[in-house]
Amino acid sequence: DAACKVIAGGVSSDIRRSTTSAPPLYIDHASGSHLWDVDGNEYVDYVLGQGPLLFGHSHPRIVEAVTKQLARGQVYSAQHALEVEVAELVCELVPCAELVRFNSVGSEAVQGAWRLARGLTGRPKVLKFEGHYHGWYDSALFSLHPSLDEAGPADHPRAVLGSLGQLPSAADGLVIAPWNDLAAFNRLLDEHAGEIAAVTMEPLLCNTGCIEPHAEFLRGVRERTRRDGIVLIFDEVITGFRLAPGGAQEWFGVVPDLAVFGKAIAGGLPLSCIAGTAEVMRPIVEGRVGHSGTFNSNPVVMAAAAAALSMIAEQRDALYDPLRERGRRLVEGIAERAKAAGVDILTSGPGPIVQTYQTSRSAIDNYRDFATVDRERTLRFHAALLDQGVNSVSRGLWFLSTAHDDADIDRTLNAVERVFDDPTW
Ligand code: PMP
Repeated sequence: DAACKVIAGGVSSDIRRSTTSAPPLYIDHASGSHLWDVDGNEYVDYVLGQGPLLFGHSHPRIVEAVTKQLARGQVYSAQHALEVEVAELVCELVPCAELVRFNSVGSEAVQGAWRLARGLTGRPKVLKFEGHYHGWYDSALFSLHPSLDEAGPADHPRAVLGSLGQLPSAADGLVIAPWNDLAAFNRLLDEHAGEIAAVTMEPLLCNTGCIEPHAEFLRGVRERTRRDGIVLIFDEVITGFRLAPGGAQEWFGVVPDLAVFGKAIAGGLPLSCIAGTAEVMRPIVEGRVGHSGTFNSNPVVMAAAAAALSMIAEQRDALYDPLRERGRRLVEGIAERAKAAGVDILTSGPGPIVQTYQTSRSAIDNYRDFATVDRERTLRFHAALLDQGVNSVSRGLWFLSTAHDDADIDRTLNAVERVFDDPTW
């Protein structure tokens, strides 16, 4: 209630507020894989700030790097060694990265990537896929959850505004394509021939279902964009440094021209970047496309990023294998318990990120399938888990961190069992 007096909307996104009249989650502090609320209740945390905390909360190496740097200056607005070190690490880890530019958050880096693609090609439009999220700026924010009537035909989806106050003309610059449908994609490119600067995707769709691209779809999109001189952009804000050291492009073995990173890149501090081939980054190098921001490349977040990316570069599989294994244990454990309790649930995801949703379907391939998920029941499942000491993303996502151990997974599966045993959720 105190929050509602000074914060517009208060805690409107809180999972408890949207399902019950119980007080919202009010955090006191966090450490590793755990959160504590102001009443002293402890939670295993799979929200992890919506993904950035690949190493959990307040990893000692990140805390040390940031603390040291804070005493040496916060914003320089001039070249410094930490920025170069982080750019070198991104280029070492990410297949498409020859040159890098930094921003603070994912939404603005997406805008930078789209401007760069327009500047490079001289074309006005961007193609995105239905259900994919690319930040909350006007030109990107189109409804993730339109009704199927609003959304238009399955092979020719419409851009449905995501928020009152959003500039309607932003839709003019967007072409929406269905996910995992190569024939429809090719038809849309024919229809807008010579107008499309960039094709943008969440290479593993994470925001409306954890949906993998079909191998032939991803290959087909790569081939067609190359042929038509369209910049292929992977929005790796979630997948970057999380699926694998080199993100989804390493995991799926398909390399885009340009990629956007955020979230996990700086171990929990606000940093984003675009990283691409020298050819695609040329307009920035030549000063023909502007790229700016007061806090870009500030040494405090760069210190955190250097620590985070160094840990990734040093450990590689030794870091990701346990994440994948714990994610697998988690979803298999949930699926087993659901079967025993007669609960319909679909689990998916490659480990460092996994998803659970209430549906009787055996697979989900695109937004149209996802729209049939019982989202209300999914929400109530996650709210019931919160009451059992497990904090997960209400739309069905679970982020794993290197701080989660087997005891966390056991505790979580016991909580899941208790929720499945309780007929009231
Ligand atoms: N792209 C994707 C795929 C995202 O998931 C998000 C945020 N969830 C963004 C872009 C926007 O990033 P930010 O919230 O840091 O602006």
